[in-house]
Amino acid sequence: MTTLCIRQGRVIDPENHIDVICDVWIENGHISHMGHIEEVADQEINATHCVVCPGLIDMHVHLREPGEEWKEDIESASKSAVAGGVTSMCCMPNTTPCLDHAGVVHQILNRAKEVGLCRIFPIGAVSRQLKGKEITEMRDLSKAGAVAFSDDGLPIWHAGTMRKALEYASSFGYLIIQHAEEFELTKDGAINEGIVSSMLGLKGMPNEGEDCMVARDIMLTELTGGRYHVAHISSARSIEMVRHAQEKGLSVSAEAAPHHFALTELELLNFNTNAKMNPPLRTEADRMAVVKGLRDGSIAVIASDHAPHHEDDKCCTLDCAAFGIVGLETLLPVSLELVHQGHLSMSEVVAKLTSNPAKLLGLDVGTLGLGKKADIVIFNPSEDWMLDSKKLRSKSKNTPWDGKIMRGTVHYTLLGGEVVYQKEVSS
Ligand SMILES: [Zn+2]
Repeated sequence: MTTLCIRQGRVIDPENHIDVICDVWIENGHISHMGHIEEVADQEINATHCVVCPGLIDMHVHLREPGEEWKEDIESASKSAVAGGVTSMCCMPNTTPCLDHAGVVHQILNRAKEVGLCRIFPIGAVSRQLKGKEITEMRDLSKAGAVAFSDDGLPIWHAGTMRKALEYASSFGYLIIQHAEEFELTKDGAINEGIVSSMLGLKGMPNEGEDCMVARDIMLTELTGGRYHVAHISSARSIEMVRHAQEKGLSVSAEAAPHHFALTELELLNFNTNAKMNPPLRTEADRMAVVKGLRDGSIAVIASDHAPHHEDDKCCTLDCAAFGIVGLETLLPVSLELVHQGHLSMSEVVAKLTSNPAKLLGLDVGTLGLGKKADIVIFNPSEDWMLDSKKLRSKSKNTPWDGKIMRGTVHYTLLGGEVVYQKEVSS
């Protein structure tokens, strides 16, 4: 039997309403007990001044494997994840081949097991080849290990396909995750439609591109009794609609990406292609609406939308550049800004990164309950570090925070009681 003890950290486990300074004892990879522990373990970790909480769950990650391994692969994404305190990630289906059949799900799960750093939970495709027309064999995908369904990268565009997907999924309780975008309104757009797009002379993507899709989908959720989740919600009116749907008792949920509550379209004023993403950075009013949604619970989850791109796809003009940023290593410090700025409590932020996504997806992780797998992150919430994009573990370096000071440093990440990441001690 191997034992490990984490000493004197601030232990936060939202699922069990725990927020207390104590020791955590781990036996054979599982959480065994908490409190003041006299016994000495085989391995001891000092967590003074640190938060000890469940390993983070990032429910929105683009792994790029299979098909675009020059941007990222399962190994590099896993290294990036654990450096960011993430021990479980859900991967989106827009790979090549895409996750529309069980074989690809098996392939990803096998590769994740070989790498062995981070748990990976695949999201299956809603439509065959992500073409938005025929729905996939969701039951087969689920049996193979898919935990939810989405066409992310693309919207589930046709209303008829969305209706069928919600109807079919509702019989099994599957969650349908939507990248809410009406292409007819956003076509050729590079950034948010508004004052910045006018100043830069670029075609914009209006909030209505997101709002129309969310409105339609909420109606279809009501019609079908399905479970609907808005990915990377960014528009004030969409958030209002989600809140209203929840008040009506519909099974509607949403996630926000850190860039949408930390940044606005003003980042684009210097033509920074690393601030180009989809949905785009929007106005201060939208940013504050995301913060409000996180505060009042309408937005239950924070997820990175980690979208690695090669330099070649970003070293070009704004209208040509690819959409997306890497996010696994900035997910925690940018989310902690919500605590430092007094918007949310530490426990609330931890819940949005652990127990809330676990509950939504039915995953048996995201808590420090006794007997549970010891997936744990230990971080100092007030320790600063400077982000040097060249040092990111991800193969891609497309981040808008290059050179910025990040507050919140991961010291250890544990997966099933094994240390899979440890902060380097600077000499
Ligand atoms: Zn998306």
